[in-house]
Amino acid sequence: MAGNWKMYKTPAETTAFFEKFRPLVEKSTHCEIVICPPFTNIAAAVAAAKGSTIQIGGQNIAWAREGAFTGEISGAMLTAVGASHAIVGHSERRQYFGETDETVLKRTVAALDAGLTPIVCVGERLEERESGGTEAVLVSQFTKGIAGLTGQQFAKIVIAYEPVWAIGTGKTATPEIAADAHRVIREQVKAKFGKEAADAVRILYGGSVKPDNVKSLMAQPEIDGSLVGGASLDAGSFASIVNF
Ligand code: PEP
Repeated sequence: MAGNWKMYKTPAETTAFFEKFRPLVEKSTHCEIVICPPFTNIAAAVAAAKGSTIQIGGQNIAWAREGAFTGEISGAMLTAVGASHAIVGHSERRQYFGETDETVLKRTVAALDAGLTPIVCVGERLEERESGGTEAVLVSQFTKGIAGLTGQQFAKIVIAYEPVWAIGTGKTATPEIAADAHRVIREQVKAKFGKEAADAVRILYGGSVKPDNVKSLMAQPEIDGSLVGGASLDAGSFASIVNF
């Protein structure tokens, strides 16, 4: 269960979040818990999570190790401050910052090279769903992005299916819609990397996951976890999601 804080919270607010959140998930050993705060709060989050099983991730990662890339943060920088994960290809990065399947692949490889677990996001836009293009979009994102990994690399990634129309909109994909999309993705994985890889890969659902809908989503065997935006900003609500 992963939380994406987007561009919210200061380091002090991060510390305050963990004070409330930690006791609520102290006994939650049924899943991995990852929180991805803004880069400026990672050190505070790592310090506040110390001694717990909560892991910390970045919301993006540069494809280069270092260099003249103003505004970028490298994998080595993330691991140096104690991060273990990095979200890659979030739809807000694709929509507002020109992220493409090609750059998503490069960033994914950079995360793996740095020893980080990439959470690679895919998902269709509203007009693509309404025109019946969901499957084609998922196949294309997979083919141009994730399929460029080696089998060994693929075994270390987590995929997040996030239909763009469900992110931050309050519209959740029904459990059946989400499961259908997860099946499409898993089929692609099977065709490219084999059955074992398809069975093993974790596919998270993201898009307006809340305490009151998480249970029905997680009841789908296809759905292995959630990537949670808005509802992960509140300690009580993210803890309820983790403890669904
Ligand atoms: C997200 O940011 O990845 C996300 C799914 O957002 P929300 O839960 O707010 O829809």
